[in-house]
Amino acid sequence: MYEFLKKQDEEVFDAIEGEEKRQAEGLELIPSENYVSRAVKEAMASSLTNKYSEGYPGKRYYGGQEFTDKVERFAQERAKQLFGAGFANVQPLGGANANIGAYFGLLEPGDTVLGMELSHGGHLTHGHPVTYIAKIFNFVRYGMKDVETGEIDYDALEATAKKERPKIVLAGFSAYPRELDWKRIADIAHGVGAVAMADVAHIAGLIAGGSQKNPFDYGFDVMTTTTHKTLRGPRGGMILVREREDLAKAIDKAIFPGLQGGPHMHQIAAKAVAFKEALAPSFKDYAQQVVANAAAMAEVFKESDVRMITGGTSNHLILADVFGSLGMSGGEAEKLLDEAGITLNKNAIADDTRKPMDPSGIRFGTPAITTRGFSEDDSREVARLMLEVLKTKDAAAAREKIRALAEKHPIPNSFA
Ligand SMILES: *Cc1c(COP(=O)(O)O)cnc(C)c1O
Repeated sequence: MYEFLKKQDEEVFDAIEGEEKRQAEGLELIPSENYVSRAVKEAMASSLTNKYSEGYPGKRYYGGQEFTDKVERFAQERAKQLFGAGFANVQPLGGANANIGAYFGLLEPGDTVLGMELSHGGHLTHGHPVTYIAKIFNFVRYGMKDVETGEIDYDALEATAKKERPKIVLAGFSAYPRELDWKRIADIAHGVGAVAMADVAHIAGLIAGGSQKNPFDYGFDVMTTTTHKTLRGPRGGMILVREREDLAKAIDKAIFPGLQGGPHMHQIAAKAVAFKEALAPSFKDYAQQVVANAAAMAEVFKESDVRMITGGTSNHLILADVFGSLGMSGGEAEKLLDEAGITLNKNAIADDTRKPMDPSGIRFGTPAITTRGFSEDDSREVARLMLEVLKTKDAAAAREKIRALAEKHPIPNSFA
């Protein structure tokens, strides 16, 4: 695959080869990561990267758009079909750009957004004070009523919406293991004249595959997402609008010319390829298995009395309180597991008593191992090995078993 690169630039070739080996030999449990198919990679590596296509299909600034227009329309049509959307903008370069584009399209500076408490699972781009977005718009918060079950405090959400009159009610998360009551949130948003916006960056693939509810079925107006997490496409973002053309037009203008320059057409082609894969019946099995595997891992943690935020999981990820249950910080757990060949991330938990750089929790999930064909039994085995490493603080003993599990399930080139 890297014939020319190898000859021309050995330094970069070696780094890429090293990363490919790392991915093949270790187990990837970061819940926002996945493996794309060879077809997606081929589209990403195509000559479409050479082309400037500022604008949208049929309305470009430069000539020579016969094929780029086709590619972008394939991506748009497939995205709409996957999520039941009326409009799709497939140009955002990532999930952050998708959110920023949606805010600029839907808000004026100073307007209010009501979003999920960051320490309860919300994302940086939902108005964390370190972001520039937080200087432009006013973010107010809702959160969980009960950290042990994960139930959102919907009454408080409604009261805050009535008091603050947000223009957007934002629902979505990076570290929340349960499903939201989409209908309740959409009704609250519409009750105060706000747009109901869902950031489904983490769960888009589960929605597309039917193992999580689709916010559009419950009245949500706008969805933003990444394309590289559970959706298993190339790194990128996307904005979907259910039916309001006024919102779609405003968002298109915000992305280009408001925020970005030329779209990355090679990534858009790869998005189209990944969306076709997600439309295939086998993607439903994948989405079901991701959730079943996460439930199997949660069972093992529960049997070992390790506290999980919200008590377990209903989606692809688990947030475990390793400080509370095992007396080690999230950072220490991350490092030990890394030495054993398991990659995951430390994560703050709700009401964390520790500092953000070394919090109490770890976050892990099953999208990547499920792509490798892990069953529920395999997933239970991974959870048992994790607990063995964390309890004995001996990474070396588990390392061979983890490598054997990885070797048993090579990263696939295609999902057909
Ligand atoms: C990952 C994520 C993003 C950001 O996506 P990037 O592609 O990293 O910019 C935004 N929102 C949520 C909820 C996420 O999980």
